[in-house]
Amino acid sequence: MVDKGKIENAIESILHAIGEDSGREGLLATPKRVARVYEEIFSGINIDPQSILQTTFSEEYSGLVTLDKISFFSMCEHHLLPFYGFVSIGYIPNGKIAGLSKFVRLIDVLSKRPQLQERLTEQIVNLIDLVLSPEGVAVIISAEHMCMSLRGVKKMGATIKTVASRGVLNTQNDRFKEFESIVSKAK
Ligand SMILES: [Zn+2]
Repeated sequence: MVDKGKIENAIESILHAIGEDSGREGLLATPKRVARVYEEIFSGINIDPQSILQTTFSEEYSGLVTLDKISFFSMCEHHLLPFYGFVSIGYIPNGKIAGLSKFVRLIDVLSKRPQLQERLTEQIVNLIDLVLSPEGVAVIISAEHMCMSLRGVKKMGATIKTVASRGVLNTQNDRFKEFESIVSKAK
C-alpha cells in the first residue's frame, strides 16, 4: 500500500520548489490527484509475480505459443518518467501451459513499479522459464521512453527494443526466427 499522504506532501514541496503557488485554483487538488495516480501506477510493488502464473494446465502441445504486442505502461526508475510500448512472448511448452490472461497480468504487475526495460524483459522471461519450465521461451519488448523524448537527447518516437530468450529459443536460431517472424507480422 502506498502512503498517499506522504506523496501529497512531496508533490506540494515539488510545486513550491519549481516556483509555483500550490494554493492557486488549478493546483489545489493536484497533490491528491498525483497521489492517486502513483497509487495506481506503482500498485505492482508488493505483489509476488510468481504467484500469478501458479495456475497451470497440463497439455501436450509441442508447438510455439505466441502472445503478440501486449501493451504495457511503466515508470523508468532513473527519471520517474513513463516508458510504454508492447511486449511479445513466445514459448514452447513442455507439458505445461498457462492461461493467456495470466501473462497479461504478469506484465502488468512487473510494469507497475519503478522499472527498467532491460530488467522487465529479463524478469518476464525468467518467471515463465521458472514456473512453466518450457522447452524454450523468448520475450521482445519495444518501448518509447519519455526520458528520451522530452529531455536529454529529445528523440521523439525512438523505440528501444530488448530481447531475452531461454532454452531452445535461445540455442536454436531457426526456432527463434520462427517466433520473431510471427511477432513482427502481428498488427
Ligand atoms: Zn529514464
